[in-house]
Amino acid sequence: MVHDVAIIGAGPAGLSAALNLVRAKRSVLLVDANRPRNAATLRSHGFLTRDGISPLELRKLGRTEVEGYPEATVVQSVVDLVTPATDTDGWQVHGTWRGTELDARARTVVVATGLREDFPPLPMLRAFYGTAVHSCVECDAYDKAGQPLAFICETADVVDRALLIAAWTDDLIVYTNGVAPLDDAGRERLAAAGVVVDERVVDDLEGDRTGMTGVRLADGHVEPRTGGFVRPTWHADLDWLCTTSRSADDDTPDPSSELRRDAQGFLVVDPVGRTSVPGLYAVGDVTPPGPEQLIVAAGHGAATAAAVHRDLVGGLADPRDAV
Ligand SMILES: Cc1cc2nc3c(=O)[nH]c(=O)nc-3n(C[C@H](O)[C@H](O)[C@H](O)COP(=O)(O)OP(=O)(O)OC[C@H]3O[C@@H](n4cnc5c(N)ncnc54)[C@H](O)[C@@H]3O)c2cc1C
Repeated sequence: MVHDVAIIGAGPAGLSAALNLVRAKRSVLLVDANRPRNAATLRSHGFLTRDGISPLELRKLGRTEVEGYPEATVVQSVVDLVTPATDTDGWQVHGTWRGTELDARARTVVVATGLREDFPPLPMLRAFYGTAVHSCVECDAYDKAGQPLAFICETADVVDRALLIAAWTDDLIVYTNGVAPLDDAGRERLAAAGVVVDERVVDDLEGDRTGMTGVRLADGHVEPRTGGFVRPTWHADLDWLCTTSRSADDDTPDPSSELRRDAQGFLVVDPVGRTSVPGLYAVGDVTPPGPEQLIVAAGHGAATAAAVHRDLVGGLADPRDAV
């Protein structure tokens, strides 16, 4: 069977794309590794009608809706190769899950695999991530309002991000870990907003099962903090995408060389999710600028679904002019 669409990733972006495509009577193969980035948190915020829901429950609700349509095939698998079909238009999708292989065909592919986060190397950070320490200010700052917070940031956007967090608390310490570049103008802006800067090396976060209690510096000083924010670096892991499996004497252009990615590796798309390669779409956190919010990813999923359907009706007009 050749599916109309293979969607890789069943977070809010992929699920929303799937729901709207099955409702367009498209046969959809939805493949998911079931490793959502937001599993670190117990509650998700800001999704209209679902504020405070567990992120896993939100996924389950979405998946149940999609699975209710006969046009949907939902499979758990880790996709390790998506490549143009050798003998016809469209794509081959390969994945594995516990020794079971997935080998599928689709006319179009939507990449909705989200992103990977790397953190400053503090041993306890992961333990507090999603409960006491967060990365999404819009999602989680409300619940930290007025508290003594830490912001751990090693990147050049430290000042702008710190000022954003300071809108929710007047007790914020920025830890650059001796890495984030700070000039005099930046220091003055932070000082004017009442934000304290500590550029000493951070050893770790302190606390126990009941919560975070402080930030421990390499010189032994422990500053009491109940939680805060961290600035991860974000990456798109897409080694499996568009790798050619064609024979050496095949001189047609290799789509992987035409696939536009930005400096961080995110898939460059037009406003409705078309990549620079015809028939290949991307949506959600895997597209620039990276991290979104649940409802934004879901909204983009709906817009991309409409574009995929329109392109299939129209015979896949070359979208690259728009990217
Ligand atoms: C700790 C944390 C808390 C958050 N809290 C909130 C919040 O309160 N409110 C809010 O609006 N947003 C929140 N976010 C952000 C939100 O979770 C993301 O913006 C959103 O999930 C992005 O959706 P997505 O569908 O693009 O990607 P994801 O939700 O990350 O889904 C990607 C899916 O693709 C799958 N996948 C990846 N690679 C493969 C592969 N090779 N093969 C098969 N499947 C694959 C993954 O397993 C995953 O299921 C939070 C994020 C984090 C990390």
